[in-house]
Amino acid sequence: MQLFADDHGKLIDVREARYKRDYSCRECSAKVRRRGGFKRQLHFYHLERPSNCRSYGKSETHLAIQRRLYALLPKGEAHLERAFPEVRRIADLFWERHGLVFEVQCSSISEEEVRARNRDYESLGLTIVWILHIKRFSRIGESLRALFAQNCTYYTTIDAMGRGALFDEIAEREGGWVYGRSPRLNVRLDRPKPTPLQFTHPLPRPLTSRLAKSSLCFEGDALDLLRSGGRPALLQWTQDALERERQRQLARWLFTVKNCLSKTAKALGAPYASLLDHLLRLASKN
Ligand SMILES: [Zn+2]
Repeated sequence: MQLFADDHGKLIDVREARYKRDYSCRECSAKVRRRGGFKRQLHFYHLERPSNCRSYGKSETHLAIQRRLYALLPKGEAHLERAFPEVRRIADLFWERHGLVFEVQCSSISEEEVRARNRDYESLGLTIVWILHIKRFSRIGESLRALFAQNCTYYTTIDAMGRGALFDEIAEREGGWVYGRSPRLNVRLDRPKPTPLQFTHPLPRPLTSRLAKSSLCFEGDALDLLRSGGRPALLQWTQDALERERQRQLARWLFTVKNCLSKTAKALGAPYASLLDHLLRLASKN
C-alpha cells in the first residue's frame, strides 16, 4: 500500500483520490484504488497481487511512520514517496534541504537490498537514515547490522495508529552476541547535526565505530548527548559497557594463555602441569 499513485501521468495524493476509481502504482504500474478513511488510514491498495513491487509490501504501520516523520519536518521541505528515476527508487521520505532520504523498514530485508539502497542513494550524493521497527529489528545478524551501521540508523515503536516513539539505542555486540543495550534515547530527526569530533569520556566500541563511519548525528542521539556531557543513565551505561568490554577482553586473553599453558604442560609432564594449573587458577581469581 502507498500514499501516492499515478493518475494519467500526474501524481495524486490518496487524500485527493476518488473511491472506486482506478489509478496506477508508480512502481509496478498495476491498478490501485483508494481505501480507508474511518478506522484505517487512507491508502492506495493493489487490486491484484503484483509479481514484484516494493510499494505492495508496505503495511499500515509503515505508512503511519512515514506520516509521522513527514509531520516532524519543516513544512514544504520534505516529500513523501519521492521518486528517483535515475536509480529506479521511491524514497519513503526525502528531506531536500539536507539531502536526507528516510527509509522505513518494518519487514525483513535482505543484505543485498540494504547494500543496493545504500549504494543507489549514495550515488546521488544523498544520505540514508534508516528507521527500523523494533518489533522486527531488535535482534538481527551481525552482517546485516553492519550494513545498517554504515548510515544513521534509529528505531521506532510507532504502530498503525501512529502511536509510539522514535529513538536511538545502542546494542553492545560481539561475535554475534548482544551483551547489553543502552537506554532508549528520544531522537529529534528534524534536527540533524555534524558528528562531534571530541569527547570528554572514553566511548564503548559501538559508538567509536559509529563515530568513524558517520558524519551526521541528530539532536538527542547518543553521540549528541555525550558531546554535551550526557545524561546520568547514558553515562552509567557507557561506563558499564566499557567495563564489560574490558572483562570480555580479559576473558579472551585468559583463554589464550590457558591454551598455551596446557600445551606446554603436556610437553613438560605431570609435575609441571599441576604447578601451571595452580598458577592459572590464581591468575583467574585476580
Ligand atoms: Zn505496485
